[in-house]
Amino acid sequence: MKEINTEKICRQCEISFEVTESDYLFLDKVSPTFDNQKFQIPPPTLCPNCRQQRRLSFRNERNIYRRKCDASGKDIVSIYSPDLPAGSQGKPYKVYDQKIWWSDDRNPMAFGRDFDFERTFTEQFGVLMVDVPYPSMLSIGCENCDYTCYTLDSKECYMSS
Ligand SMILES: [Zn+2]
Repeated sequence: MKEINTEKICRQCEISFEVTESDYLFLDKVSPTFDNQKFQIPPPTLCPNCRQQRRLSFRNERNIYRRKCDASGKDIVSIYSPDLPAGSQGKPYKVYDQKIWWSDDRNPMAFGRDFDFERTFTEQFGVLMVDVPYPSMLSIGCENCDYTCYTLDSKECYMSS
């Protein structure tokens, strides 16, 4: 079988990278279809390293911050900083104490909405990211681990992830 590869230039770091035939086949396979209309996912415009950097930019295992819970107003510890960029009204994201975030007292389905085919996915995802609250930390089944994140079934841990 002959491979059909495309040479691309990364729009961020400007190095050359290759999009392989298997990449195109994968993108075709995962492209969604709605009402019998296929929405083809385009090939990447960033090189693999720049895509990895973009994915990792949403993670934080190294810093925790004091801030207010956007549900209760109480002081909490969070992986999301409360800092205010100059000239802004603060970060637009809502952060809930993880006990509130996981509780059955709130209804996560209240954030559900229909997809609007007149607007881009990215635009609608951006609105969703601002509307849906984030859990302050992610530590599940832990005991006395208030200052840990990305932890599971741990006990007496401090500043680890
Ligand atoms: Zn790049």
